Amino acid sequence: MVICGAGVIGASVAYNLALRGIASVVVERVAVAHGASGTAAGLLTPVPPSQESSPVGQLATRSMECHRYLAEELDGRNQYDFAEVEALVVATSAAERRFLEDAYGKERVMAPPDRNGWLDREVAGAVAVEGAAQIHPGKYTRTLLEAACAMGARVVQGDVQGIRTERGRVTAVLVSAETVETSRVVVAMGPWSAEAEAWLRMPVPVTPLKGQILHYAMRDAPEGLFSTLDGNYAVRKPDGVVFAGTTEEEAGFDLSPTDEARDGIGKWVSSVSSRFDGQMPVGQTVCLRPLSEDGLPLIGAVPTFEGAYIAAGHGRKGLMLSAATGELLTELIATGVCTSMDLGPFDPGRFRTMPRSLA
Ligand SMILES: Cc1cc2nc3c(=O)[nH]c(=O)nc-3n(C[C@H](O)[C@H](O)[C@H](O)COP(=O)(O)OP(=O)(O)OC[C@H]3O[C@@H](n4cnc5c(N)ncnc54)[C@H](O)[C@@H]3O)c2cc1C
Repeated sequence: MVICGAGVIGASVAYNLALRGIASVVVERVAVAHGASGTAAGLLTPVPPSQESSPVGQLATRSMECHRYLAEELDGRNQYDFAEVEALVVATSAAERRFLEDAYGKERVMAPPDRNGWLDREVAGAVAVEGAAQIHPGKYTRTLLEAACAMGARVVQGDVQGIRTERGRVTAVLVSAETVETSRVVVAMGPWSAEAEAWLRMPVPVTPLKGQILHYAMRDAPEGLFSTLDGNYAVRKPDGVVFAGTTEEEAGFDLSPTDEARDGIGKWVSSVSSRFDGQMPVGQTVCLRPLSEDGLPLIGAVPTFEGAYIAAGHGRKGLMLSAATGELLTELIATGVCTSMDLGPFDPGRFRTMPRSLA
């Protein structure tokens, strides 16, 4: 079994395969967790009740359960800074407040609060999200891979350049100058997964969505997380540094930090909390989300070649969704069917019949 890509998705698949006694070779062309899986905010935030029955909602709910279990199994608190976090979703207008009331239930929307010590600007209301947590994304990814390696997996450096097939079945993966014989392969190359279109002879519509985060070294920053409905958030990490973000930029594979993002995030965060007034960020990171064409991840077997699978396109929630993705894809690989959850909505083959313009 070869897994292409050592981000959090590849790591989670490798870990779950190893638990079932299936050893894998994880091929990574740069370094473990070098992409968004090492730089992201690391928030594990449950979806609102109104979205729990959607395909991603079900995956997210299962993933939260898996994250709690994993934190016990892998000593997450010490190994990758797993910690429960008090999370507030904030409405900044009456319309947003109504949205929160629909999503969470009217009774859960508070009057403008200062529950976690951050919010002192005028807001229209907030909801405390139960069960949110955070992790250090890079440490989490490395912990999964180390645990997988202790059970027989291997991580090798190399550039996957193709897949060899014979009579409709996978027979090898072409890695840099080498050919690795295998009958099964998982493409988990994050925003680079579309490179596999030529190998798999099918559309893999996953593109990069750039995101930037500012780091603030603030004395006495309150614990906890707050976010607004436009997708922005600020959170204190366990080392005391405050992460505030983020942008959503269609800029290809560009990884340069911009002044525009720094100013925009700074303005947003000050609009919610005066604690950021006059603060200069001490860091600014950039990474790329793997965004699928229809917003749902691709998880499952590919229809073109037996033995080929994809786990990619998890967008803004890849860390969150990684735990269930690894578990469920492994069930499919190991038993030929995933009975624990319907993976139909995530079928990687769904784009073969869908005109791109309608997706
Ligand atoms: C600013 C920002 C904040 C985020 N915050 C959160 C958050 O708080 N919570 C959350 O759940 N999600 C968050 N995300 C999303 C999350 O980080 C991603 O969805 C997730 O990391 C994607 O993981 P991945 O393994 O699919 O891809 P990646 O992390 O990109 O890993 C893919 C790996 O594949 C390797 N690769 C690519 N091509 C090849 C090849 N040909 N051969 C060998 N290796 C190859 C790459 O080098 C890379 O290491 C955030 C993302 C951004 C950008």
